[in-house]
Amino acid sequence: MQNLIFVIGATATGKTYFIDKHYRDKDVDILNVYDYQQRIYDEEGFGDSIPLGAQFRCLMKANNMLLSDIIEKLKQGRYVVVEQTFFKAKRRIAYIDEIRKAADVTIEIYVMCPNDELWESNLKKRNMEGRLKYYKEQAVSTIEFPNPAEGIDMIYKVDGDEIQLQMESPRPELLNKAREELAEEAERIRNEDEAKRRRKELIGSMNTRPFWHYCEVCGKKEFITAQEAFDSGWDYPPNMGHFGLLGPRTCGNCFIIDTLFWKVNTDKKIPLPVVVEKMLTPKERVTWQRIKGEPESLLEEEEQII
Ligand SMILES: [Zn+2]
Repeated sequence: MQNLIFVIGATATGKTYFIDKHYRDKDVDILNVYDYQQRIYDEEGFGDSIPLGAQFRCLMKANNMLLSDIIEKLKQGRYVVVEQTFFKAKRRIAYIDEIRKAADVTIEIYVMCPNDELWESNLKKRNMEGRLKYYKEQAVSTIEFPNPAEGIDMIYKVDGDEIQLQMESPRPELLNKAREELAEEAERIRNEDEAKRRRKELIGSMNTRPFWHYCEVCGKKEFITAQEAFDSGWDYPPNMGHFGLLGPRTCGNCFIIDTLFWKVNTDKKIPLPVVVEKMLTPKERVTWQRIKGEPESLLEEEEQII
């Protein structure tokens, strides 16, 4: 039977120290979720600043890569120690379900629960002194202490050098809740992917399908393809500018200096970078609404143009 150890806890609670002390010199494989996260951020080209929307996806990807490496190593008969954050029961359950399917394994979790003095001194070593209250509050509000019902054989609480077995009474209801949350999450991700795919497909189709071209200056409108529009002198996405972003929308007879784009960017009559709708004339407002709604706003003919 294989052994799998998870060492979990909040920032600066001593996870790495614990692993070094107990496992560094042993014949075990040590994996760290932060290495995986960093690898994904590097691969995606984010460096130090990760856009908020992308972070969740990156963390999920890192988690999945780590999980498959764990399974791989267990299958090779290795003893595996993993540093993870694992605050939520659902994250642990998602892992344990897959691991149990793949290998016959004893799973132990060590939860870092340092006393205030120790935690504060750990933070100090990382130049994060004075932030104990913040991290503690964050831990209290986000960490769900592991429960044996999650499929864990042994759960330990670690305070410095003190290690205590802490098996709370099994709460099988946790499993249903966690599995429901995981299913909802998977559904949400699927929907997001599908919406992204459709959007990409729609944007791609704008290169060839005819769509409504509205001149924001003279009010002319034509249901033509991008190529036809380009040939007759229209300034319009996708050949000129981008759908959904402020830029000129003019026919071949009108001029850029009469556009909302010009007014915002050149005349400086409207502060950048925001288009302040209440500063627009009714005609400009129609133009701006239409641009914001592109490319969908160009598929069907508008009922009335001011
Ligand atoms: Zn025109």
